[in-house]
Amino acid sequence: MKIVCPHCHTVSNLGVAVCVGCQAEVVYGSTFSEVKSAATFGAIAAGVVSSVIMVKFFSFSFVLLVVCAFIGALCGRAWAQKAHLDETRFFRLFLNK
Ligand SMILES: [Zn+2]
Repeated sequence: MKIVCPHCHTVSNLGVAVCVGCQAEVVYGSTFSEVKSAATFGAIAAGVVSSVIMVKFFSFSFVLLVVCAFIGALCGRAWAQKAHLDETRFFRLFLNK
């Protein structure tokens, strides 16, 4: 299978880490930083929501907060991985090249 770089239109083999034409970074699926920020956001969002629910309806539990934040992180990570599933993306680091 072949992939075509959108920057320089060079055809590369599927599986390469960089474009042979312009050295653009080829990412299959989501980047690590995307997954990490989505997991962080999920953890914070779940932590805040669970805290509000606990304070309002139950009594606050730090253990439960951590559990909810952890679940939120997993959900965020799963979402980020799904967002770019089966995608091949090119990131050109040196735009003027
Ligand atoms: Zn290229």
